[in-house]
Amino acid sequence: MEKQDTKVRAWIELDMENLRHNTALLSSMLPAGCALMPAVKANAYGHGAVPIAKELNKLGVQAFCVASVLEGAELRQAGISGVILVLGYTHPTQFPLLRRYELTQTVIDYEYAKLLNSGDTVTDVHVAVDTGMHRIGERCENFDRILAIFRMENLHVSGIFTHLCADDGEQAAERAFTLRQAEAFQSVVKRLRAYGYRPKAHILGSYGLLNYPSFGGAYARVGIAIYGVLSSAEDRLLCRADLRPVLSLKARVSSIREVHAGEPVGYGLAYTAEQDMQIASLAIGFADGLPRALSCGVGSVLFNGRRAPIVGRVCMDQTMVDVRGIQSIRAGDTAVIIGSSGAQSITACDIAAQTGTISNEILSRLGQRLERICVWRKQFARVPKSACMPLPKSR
Ligand SMILES: *Cc1c(COP(=O)(O)O)cnc(C)c1O
Repeated sequence: MEKQDTKVRAWIELDMENLRHNTALLSSMLPAGCALMPAVKANAYGHGAVPIAKELNKLGVQAFCVASVLEGAELRQAGISGVILVLGYTHPTQFPLLRRYELTQTVIDYEYAKLLNSGDTVTDVHVAVDTGMHRIGERCENFDRILAIFRMENLHVSGIFTHLCADDGEQAAERAFTLRQAEAFQSVVKRLRAYGYRPKAHILGSYGLLNYPSFGGAYARVGIAIYGVLSSAEDRLLCRADLRPVLSLKARVSSIREVHAGEPVGYGLAYTAEQDMQIASLAIGFADGLPRALSCGVGSVLFNGRRAPIVGRVCMDQTMVDVRGIQSIRAGDTAVIIGSSGAQSITACDIAAQTGTISNEILSRLGQRLERICVWRKQFARVPKSACMPLPKSR
């Protein structure tokens, strides 16, 4: 029987066995000479950056990527070792944090390189190359500028990368575009070699690794896949890897109540009971990351393998569900919002499909109020303020 006392209101359970499984599986798919560089940005896609990165460190992972300098600092403060690459923009006032926390900064473009170079200390960087996404990176055609970045005296260029923007697509045009991106990147890397530069070059994200492992590289920046999730359920057809979801989302029933025929439930009179019924109020809402677009029956939750549709509008902190026909449910019981219950399950992909987005957005928006609890073989360890300790071996 699991201990109940640490799970108070609404929480995330992290299945650490599944994290290990995914890490081993993805490692086995890596091209020669390539290491995992999991993306733990956005609080590890909502999972909790510190517990996830700690476990990955234990599994031998020695490279991570984050979106911001403060995300990198948080990991270092928690004792995470290895390369931490900041994939996005860092304001010049925060450049000192890069050195203090031994973070590697992405060179956004040539102008940004000059900013990074202008101080009097050396910064470790990876150069982003724009091969067609047109988001960040120095354009691949501007080889002279890329070379100039390598020659800047206060930059230590340890890596170079590009990002594929259509590697999840099956269309011929998407495949052709992806191949062109890879070729453009390889050509830059080859030309740099002629000048004696051998940075760690990387190109693959989750879908790159699943669909184009032959592109190779020194790192695979896997995000969504390490969490055992695909961005969209349709992608299952594309790659049949046995990924297992790490995250479950659960919430407490705060109240069970009778509603009579003709009475409304929730804000805006958006739902009116057609008959006498029983509803359960859950201690979770859109401020926790439960999309408001699931309101009024679009979404549902699970109790003991039965589905309870959401009634009325999802509130900021609470949500009401229709528990007609679900026997013996009481205040204090647990609703499964993402995860499995009996023979039923609701995935992050399901919720993404119901709300017109991808699982990455659903997961990364899961709120700070949620407790994160690590689970090893059905036993629970509390996550004190986002740190995560394994259970003692004696259990
Ligand atoms: C977020 C991100 C990744 C990880 O993407 P997934 O599709 O989740 O694997 C990799 N590289 C860059 C540059 C990113 O911004």
